[in-house]
Amino acid sequence: MKPTALAIAAALGALAGAQETVPSADAVIAELKAGNEHHVAKHYQHPHETAARQRELSGGQHPHATILSCADSRVPPEILFDQGLGDLFDVRVAGNIAADAELASIEYSVEHLHVPVVVVMGHQRCGAVTAATESGDPGGHLPVLVAAIRPAVEAARKLPGDLVDNAVRINVENVVRNLRGSQPVLAEAVHSGTLRIVGAVYSLDTGKVTWLPESGKGSLRSLDSAQSIPGIATCARALETTFVR
Ligand SMILES: [Zn+2]
Repeated sequence: MKPTALAIAAALGALAGAQETVPSADAVIAELKAGNEHHVAKHYQHPHETAARQRELSGGQHPHATILSCADSRVPPEILFDQGLGDLFDVRVAGNIAADAELASIEYSVEHLHVPVVVVMGHQRCGAVTAATESGDPGGHLPVLVAAIRPAVEAARKLPGDLVDNAVRINVENVVRNLRGSQPVLAEAVHSGTLRIVGAVYSLDTGKVTWLPESGKGSLRSLDSAQSIPGIATCARALETTFVR
């Protein structure tokens, strides 16, 4: 089996005598992209599922990425990134919003576990986002979720194309921006270059994760460089007019 970039980084760290090796954000994202390709091809490596790995983790954890994703049963991060025990710090909530509890969890992973990457991942046909496009009281505590997602829906209504698809993507962009600007922990980590926060959208149809263009530190990437994903430029424009003051 070919060693992964992260395995090589870990081996180099061991040679250097480092107690804890934090891989680079680039290596982590490359690992996640490769794992997602395994998922798309249904050609899994199932790393880190052995009894030895379980024992190794009993005294502590050093996950290499934090994934803020939907609670939807169809989007389990370990499977769609082909990762194992101790690899991902998962924060899952319907609509992948970042309210106080989610934010605190992410801060813990950054400040105490030193993850170099936070991925905010929405998904196709998200039920929470769909609920936020509908009028009326969704009942129970759901209005809390809907209220958090609704700014993305309002921005998406100004765009051509599928309302839910656009709202899912804009919701991810909004959460990424909020996390990057969140004082003091996340904003400082982003500013110091020890943390990257990236957005992604998962396709239920294909199993593929599409990575949204990164926007530097805290602001949207320029519209000229955001042409690779159809519709992202118009999303960005709507976001700028709606949310950037
Ligand atoms: Zn969902």
